Order: sequence, then C-alpha cells, then structure tokens
Amino acid sequence: MSIKKPFIAGNWKMNLTVAEAVPLVQDLAKELKNISAADVLIAPPFPLLDVIYKTIGSSDILLAAQNMHHEISGAFTGEVSGKLLKEIGCSHVILGHSERRTLFNESDAIIDIKAKAAVSMGLIPIVCIGESLDERNTNNTEKVIRSQLNGSLRNFIETKSLPKALILAYEPVWAIGTGETASPEQAQSVHAFIRRWLSEIFGAETAETLKILYGGSVKPDNAKELMNCTDIDGALVGGASLKADSFLKIIKAAC
Ligand code: PEP
Repeated sequence: MSIKKPFIAGNWKMNLTVAEAVPLVQDLAKELKNISAADVLIAPPFPLLDVIYKTIGSSDILLAAQNMHHEISGAFTGEVSGKLLKEIGCSHVILGHSERRTLFNESDAIIDIKAKAAVSMGLIPIVCIGESLDERNTNNTEKVIRSQLNGSLRNFIETKSLPKALILAYEPVWAIGTGETASPEQAQSVHAFIRRWLSEIFGAETAETLKILYGGSVKPDNAKELMNCTDIDGALVGGASLKADSFLKIIKAAC
C-alpha cells in the first residue's frame, strides 16, 4: 500500500443535472466531514462547476474541470479557458482522458500544450495515459505508456521540472466504462513502470512523491485490492462516482 494520502477523484463525464448533482455533493460533504484520511475531488461538466463550487462550501472536496483550452481568452467558440476555471473555483483539470484522445482527437502534443498552460494559469493537471486492448495484447503497453508520457509531458521534460502537485492517472482504455478492471498485478506493474520512467527523467524524489492514480471500472468491491498496491496512490473513478454511496465506499476502501 502506498504511504501517501490517497487521492480519490470522481469524473462525472457528461452526466448529472443540477437537481441530481447538488444532493450528491451535499451527501458527500456531510460524510466526508469524518474522513480526513483521503483527498477527494470531483470533476463535473462545465455548466455545473459554479453551482457545485457553491455547494461544496467549506468542505474540503476539491473541484476539477474535465478539459480546458490552452489559451487565456479569444475567438475559440465552444471552448473554456483555464483562467476562467481557476477563477470559478477549480484547483485541478483532467487532461488527456482517453475519451478526449479518441473521440476528440487530442494528441500528446495538444495535452502537452494544455498541461503547460494549466500550470501557468494556476491549475494542477491530472494527466491521463493508458493503452488500448490491442496495444496490451501485442505486448506494447510499456512502449505506449512511455510514448504518451514523453509526448504529454514534453515541456516539463525539456525544462527538467515537473510540478510537484501534478498527478498522473493510469487508465487502461479497455477498462474504462467496461466493467473490466485491470488486475492489481497488471495495474501495479504499469504503475511501477511509470515510477521508473519518472525516476529516469526527473529523479528519484519526484518518482517517489508524485501521485499516480489508477482508473478503469473502479468499484466498491475492487477498490481495496487495487488501492493496496504499492505504487497506486488513489483512483480516478467514472461511473461509480455518480452515486454518493458507491463513491464513499471507494473513498473508505482507500483510507
Ligand atoms: C473514467 O472516466 O476515467 C473512468 C475510469 O470510468 P469508469 O470508472 O466508469 O471506468
């Protein structure tokens, strides 16, 4: 088990209405008053961010956006600036989620630009990486992960400084929303590989302290064994974060 404070993030994707989201966050805030052993974050869709920020109130729940544009402002119809996200109360932004990569053609190069911009706007990036089933079945998992890390963090590699608070999320694409989870051994093996890569590029201290989350069908009944792995520091949870009961069970399993 990792000795770091576990970090449990809920990615709501394009789900929940105001009427559904507010009571969910009220329930979480109430229960989390008694749980200080984990950092908890939620990532609602853009239009919910403001009302959820207000609902969070004085609770320690952290708020993230699911994406951002790298420019501060300008003629980018339909896009949202990191500066605005910061202003309305986000501390983090998820970047490079596999759905952004596959459905919206986000390349490593775009994620790299966004990660740099996020940090300059005061946001902490949660950078997602993960292999497809085909890539795993052809024994290319480590090659793909290395390439995504090299591409998505290029600017930080060039400047030889990775922000201490930056978070990586290993999310095997074949496990996202499918109900199929990586086994603890599969997940641990990739997390350990990521830590070796971090050590090679940024040094042992960064490799040791940086948080690496696992994501892909994390549920109350598999959370504990995944969170028990040495190099897993928390979870990025999709479907199971949409209900207070299942999300709280995952948070408790990690503590
Ligand atoms: C995710 O959205 O990042 C995710 C891991 O989804 P799920 O937990 O539903 O697989």
